[in-house]
Amino acid sequence: MNFQLLNKLQIKDIYKNSVTKIQDTTLLLVKKDSIKKLVVMGNRTILDKFEGEITDLEEGALKICDLISNNAEILRDMCPFTKPVPIGMQSGFGFGDRLGNATVGHIKAVKKFKIIPIFAQQSIRELSRTGRTPQEVIDSAAWAVFEDHFVDGYGADADHLKTLRDIEVMANAGFTMFTIDPSDYIENRDEVIKHVVKMYNYLKELKGDAAFDFEVSVDETSYPTTAEDHIFIIRKLRESGVNVTSLAPRFVGQFQKGIDYIGNIELFRKHLVEHCNIAKDNGGYKLSIHSGSDKFSVYPVIGEVTEGNIHVKTAGTSYLEAIKTVAETSPDFYRELHNFALKRFEKDRASYHVTTDLRRIPDVKDLKDSELPELMNQIDARQLMHITYGSVLNAKDKNGELLYKNRLMKILNEYEDIYYKHLDSHLSKHLEKLGVERKQRVKFK
Ligand SMILES: [Zn+2]
Repeated sequence: MNFQLLNKLQIKDIYKNSVTKIQDTTLLLVKKDSIKKLVVMGNRTILDKFEGEITDLEEGALKICDLISNNAEILRDMCPFTKPVPIGMQSGFGFGDRLGNATVGHIKAVKKFKIIPIFAQQSIRELSRTGRTPQEVIDSAAWAVFEDHFVDGYGADADHLKTLRDIEVMANAGFTMFTIDPSDYIENRDEVIKHVVKMYNYLKELKGDAAFDFEVSVDETSYPTTAEDHIFIIRKLRESGVNVTSLAPRFVGQFQKGIDYIGNIELFRKHLVEHCNIAKDNGGYKLSIHSGSDKFSVYPVIGEVTEGNIHVKTAGTSYLEAIKTVAETSPDFYRELHNFALKRFEKDRASYHVTTDLRRIPDVKDLKDSELPELMNQIDARQLMHITYGSVLNAKDKNGELLYKNRLMKILNEYEDIYYKHLDSHLSKHLEKLGVERKQRVKFK
């Protein structure tokens, strides 16, 4: 490749893994003035497809393009590995990325293991809190997959969908997995079935011949799912022609956000065995574990009982790795976020089930800078930051300018290597404890 061209334009930050050659065209990701850009060099007809700034030099032409949606669409056409796909009955791990900048860190973790990643995983509720669109979620996953040249395939999970309209916007954006949440109908089992069937049929209509993954989640109910309810739901759905890829029961004990399992592990094992057997007897779909991050004490049980035939979802835990990166690199800004979160906590906890006790969190003004990252090992501080993310991202000053979000994104961009390293190590620990098999290391000669 002609790197001299880039030198001439003072572009020195090249994401080497991203360099992709397609016939006479080279595509790659660079950082220019701290902003990630796509560079396309070579064939003029292909250059013309992308929106960007063209430079003609004697060595040839190149185009520098913003990572906008139109360009992502052309990228997905040219580099099919950047497009999400249904994963079917293969085991999956959901790496929710609320900020839209964590996926490269996730790739560093998952490429060591034999499991299919779901990089774009977002619920409608999260979208309203992060202020992102379904298309942005799909696009940022594609850019990340391109950045690190992850060619093993990944899925995109439209999580906790409640209405036909939810399905429509997520299907149009290109999601490949659809998680239906019938919790609004949970008082009446027949209504639950009716609703899920309606959602499924609508999706079939939208997708035509295209395959998709279909999950039913009853995890956000107030009682653990009984064996009898599980059997009822799955048999009725199968009778109605619904092809379930995974099902998320509500398990015994507590799966609180961002912290370890709370409850009796032996009881959990029994409950899991029961649900696992039902799944085996009724078509062998996967059990799905929601709020699945940081449940280190039960991962070995989950891996063993399900024999790895699972789907696990995580999201907020990656946001906490972002916050840890802030605490490590920008202590004053961390303190600011922390104090804001404290003010918001009582209001924001209303939509979560957590047992956080703020009194157990040390006062940040008494902590040395170097002690701040340690807070992300303390369960109450973890939940404090976890639950208030929507408020932090949306907070505005009196002129309507975002108070924290842009600064947060800037820091994570500046220190992305540290951020990715934290994500890699934290998520690798998840996969390791779940007993996911490691990929053989390829030996280079
Ligand atoms: Zn859920």
